[in-house]
This record gives sequence, C-alpha cells and structure tokens, in this order.
Amino acid sequence: MQLNKDLYIIGIGPGNLSDISRRAYQVLNEVDVIVGYKKYIECIKELIGEDQQLYSSGMRKEVERVEKAVELAAEGKKVALISSGDAGVYGMAGPAFELIEKNDISITVEVIAGITAANAAAAVLGAPLMHDYAVISLSDILTPWEQIKKRLKAAAEADFITTLYNPRSSKRKTQLKEAKKIFLKHRSPDTPVGIVRSVGRDGEEIMITTLVEMPLEKVDMLTTVIIGNSNTYISDDKIITPRGYKI
Ligand code: SAH
Repeated sequence: MQLNKDLYIIGIGPGNLSDISRRAYQVLNEVDVIVGYKKYIECIKELIGEDQQLYSSGMRKEVERVEKAVELAAEGKKVALISSGDAGVYGMAGPAFELIEKNDISITVEVIAGITAANAAAAVLGAPLMHDYAVISLSDILTPWEQIKKRLKAAAEADFITTLYNPRSSKRKTQLKEAKKIFLKHRSPDTPVGIVRSVGRDGEEIMITTLVEMPLEKVDMLTTVIIGNSNTYISDDKIITPRGYKI
C-alpha cells in the first residue's frame, strides 16, 4: 500500500484489534512511526513491526504527543498518531489540526475513523441510540462545569438520549451525581440507563439499570453511560429506543 499522506490520525476503536478498520490496520502496518498513549500502543502491539519506531507517553500528555507526531511528519517520516475510539471524538484529531494550522506547518493529513465508545457501548446494550442523541463529556478539566451543566440540562429537557463520556474519576466524583440530579428533574426515574465498562476489552462489564437506581460507584473513567429518552425501554437484557416504526 502506497502511503500518500505525511500524518495519519487513526481511531483504533474501543480497544480490541478486531474492531480496527481495515484501512487503519493497513496504514498502521506501513508507517515509519506510531505515536500514542502508552495503553493504546499496548492495544495494538501485535501490529507493530520491528522496523517501526514508537513514541508513547502518559495521560495528560496529549499536546506533547501531537507536537511529536507533527514534528516527525514535517521531517519526512510517515507517522500514525493514534487515539482510542474515534480520533475526532475527544481525541487527537482536533489538537493536531489546531497545531498544524496555528504554526502554518505544511504536511498532509488523513483522519481514519474508528468506532467510538458510544457506538461500541450501544451495540452491547441492544439499540439505545436509535433516535436523536447527545454526547456530553463530564470532564471539567478543559471545559467549565457551568457550561457542561447547561448542556446536560438542555439535553435532558429536549429528550435526547444522552451518552456520558469521562463520567467519574477518583478525583471527580460529584459531576455524575449532579448529572443524575439534572436528568431526574426532566425524565422519569424509570428511564433506562446502560453502564458499560471496558467495552471490547478484557474485563468488559455491562449493567442495565434505571436513572434513579444508577449506582454511581460502579462508574469510572473506563465507563460509558447511556441514558435513554422518554420512549426507551428495557426488554430482557437489552435497552431499546423505538425509532417509530409500526411493528
Ligand atoms: N476518542 C474516544 C473517547 C475519549 S474520551 C472515543 O471515541 O471513544 C474517554 C472516555 O471515553 C472514557 O472516559 C469513557 O467514558 C469512554 N471510553 C473510551 N473507551 C472506552 C471503553 N473501551 N469502554 C467504555 N468506555 C470507553
């Protein structure tokens, strides 16, 4: 395969090699350098050849990784910058384009889509995202909490099915509690909620519960939470949101 771009920004899916797109797979095989978060490099280690260079770093080092990837691509290397899920969903695609644009760097870029956590979680839950939905990150590290609250309220009021990313960490415990409170003001306590941890990875856990019963302590940073809309229901071990078909 001929690589005709300098930098490939690749979503590697939720964490299982078989969830990576064929295009991502091919490009990862061909590039000179792979740049990514340690844990995600670990997910694709089987794909990495001996002649490929690796650059990995830890959490909160996103800007450093983007700088490194862009620098190597500008030097003439074929580079893959990887993100979990999809690189354009709270991933590396945004900061990479911002850096290239701000510094007027002339490299060519291709983004290769990946399966985002919301879609992987929805698939194991049944069909919860069958109608209009919102995705909200509860992390207030880069976004003020007041703004997140405003979006939670708007999504809850407008009856969007709502997927929560970055829902709760050891240092950020109050956000999910507050989100639950906001949703309870606008939606029935029986609204179905799916909690999916480590989807597509070893130790995957799936829990189906309701808004009022949602156990906050079961949720961490490896978890995606999906709150149904006012028509969503639970049947056996699945969450289903009707599309509106006469069935
Ligand atoms: N770019 C990623 C999202 C990064 S934000 C994507 O498209 O999936 C990180 C958040 O995504 C986590 O806090 C969690 O809420 C969710 N997430 C990522 N991988 C996950 C997985 N394997 N299982 C469950 N949730 C996951």
